Amino acid sequence: MTTNKKIIIIGSGFSSLSAACYLAKEGHKVTVLEKNDWLGGRAQKLVKSDYTFDMGPTFYWMPDVFEAFFADFGKRTSEYYTLKRLSPAYRVYFGQDDFIDIAGDMEHIAETFKHIEPSNDLQRFIDDSEENYKIAINDLVYQPGNHLSEIITLQTAKKLPHFIKSIKSQVAKAVKDERLRKILEFPVLFLGSTAAKTPAFYNFMNYADFVLGTWHPVGGMSKVSDAMVTLAKELGVTFHTSIAVNKINTTNNKVTSISTDKGEFDCDILLSGADYAHTESLLPKELRQYSENYWERKTFSPAALLFYLGIDKKLKGVEHHTLFFDTNFDRHSKEIYESKQWPENPLFYASFPGKSDSTMCSVDKEACTILVPLAPGLDDTPERRERIFENILIRLEQLTDTSIRPHIEFKSSYCINDFMSDFNSYKGNAYGLANTLLQTHILRPKLKSKKVDNLYFCGQLTVPGPGVPPSIISGKIVSELIQKN
Ligand SMILES: Cc1cc2nc3c(=O)[nH]c(=O)nc-3n(C[C@H](O)[C@H](O)[C@H](O)COP(=O)(O)OP(=O)(O)OC[C@H]3O[C@@H](n4cnc5c(N)ncnc54)[C@H](O)[C@@H]3O)c2cc1C
Repeated sequence: MTTNKKIIIIGSGFSSLSAACYLAKEGHKVTVLEKNDWLGGRAQKLVKSDYTFDMGPTFYWMPDVFEAFFADFGKRTSEYYTLKRLSPAYRVYFGQDDFIDIAGDMEHIAETFKHIEPSNDLQRFIDDSEENYKIAINDLVYQPGNHLSEIITLQTAKKLPHFIKSIKSQVAKAVKDERLRKILEFPVLFLGSTAAKTPAFYNFMNYADFVLGTWHPVGGMSKVSDAMVTLAKELGVTFHTSIAVNKINTTNNKVTSISTDKGEFDCDILLSGADYAHTESLLPKELRQYSENYWERKTFSPAALLFYLGIDKKLKGVEHHTLFFDTNFDRHSKEIYESKQWPENPLFYASFPGKSDSTMCSVDKEACTILVPLAPGLDDTPERRERIFENILIRLEQLTDTSIRPHIEFKSSYCINDFMSDFNSYKGNAYGLANTLLQTHILRPKLKSKKVDNLYFCGQLTVPGPGVPPSIISGKIVSELIQKN
């Protein structure tokens, strides 16, 4: 029999929203407290006159995970938002007049690869990544990460070499062309690390990319978090915005209440979907599991410098998702992960959702979001942001052979300082803890506190890892753990 509990959830990102739905469905009294004045965490949107910008996630990958979430409540995504499969899924620039379009289906992608490198081994690589995807979804990603035994099955044991080899070495075997290699290594960026540091098993992201496809929710990614909020409300969840939790109160190693700038809230169980290090900083020191030194040694996903540009004309030469891999990524990745300095000539990504969604801007304009990955913890100043902007704008104009500068009628930026002040994000990282070999499964921060009986965590710093689908999954896993306990 279920004993209904009073559960407080800190934050309203995808992981918190997911957990809120599952816990409310079990009959618990769930209250979400969000410090910002919007719900959805990093899926925030910016609306400026007739431009709508997704400020955070833009790639809707692994549609099966979203579908499975809504199906758990007897619903379908189509009851809440409309999805479009993008074709091309994305364009990748390697230089002027040198780009490759990745089609919206495997057959055409295979043709593109064959045209560039007739004797490639793409199909075998994708077959392998499909196998890994199925193992990941069926045996791995929905596990709480408490014991290695959770993930040791006949299937995973056979894949052991894939946890030792890197994706980079596997990609190098599949294709020789440097541009194709970069394309196959691109999905790893979603995991927060580099292809050389990511186990080959994560090539399941290539199956997600080429076979499951790139989708776009009409109206932008905030439509997905809005849908989850609507579902949560239907299930009885209460939401409070503009309430920051600033202290976790405990007695005998149990949370009794939390203090906020708008008063105290008592609870039977506390679940935090906010940044893990920040949440633990709200506890007395002796009840924190992880020291500052622990976080310092971890590999975080990159931070990001983002620009939101309202452009008063339609741009040629770009697609909905366009990646600019025209500079040396080895150098940029060293600047992110090793020397931890502002990049000189970084790779970047730009999104032009108006190419496929007329609700994002007028048909004759572009609502452009630009993303540059950076090392977390850099000194974020307006001058630094502007230097990068100049570098990127010049390259964007040259590569697409289009004049853009005189057509920018709105410009805003977002970077490390904003991630820290809006999300209490550790060193301003953009999407949590990277999925390296030493930061996978049992080696990630725990869903349940080892020191405080009724304190739980979810989100991109826990299992399974960064990204919208993993965050949704993490909300499900932690709810099952709470229910079990
Ligand atoms: C720029 C960018 C691009 C991305 N691109 C993609 C993409 O294309 N595809 C993809 O799948 N993923 C992408 N991601 C990653 C994805 O957005 C995240 O992994 C996911 O949204 C994280 O959800 P979460 O629930 O873990 O955390 P969050 O969204 O960070 O939610 C945590 C919430 O807790 C709140 N909070 C913090 N402290 C407190 C407090 N003291 N009191 C109350 N509330 C508090 C925060 O305000 C926030 O709302 C991107 C992320 C960024 C930033």
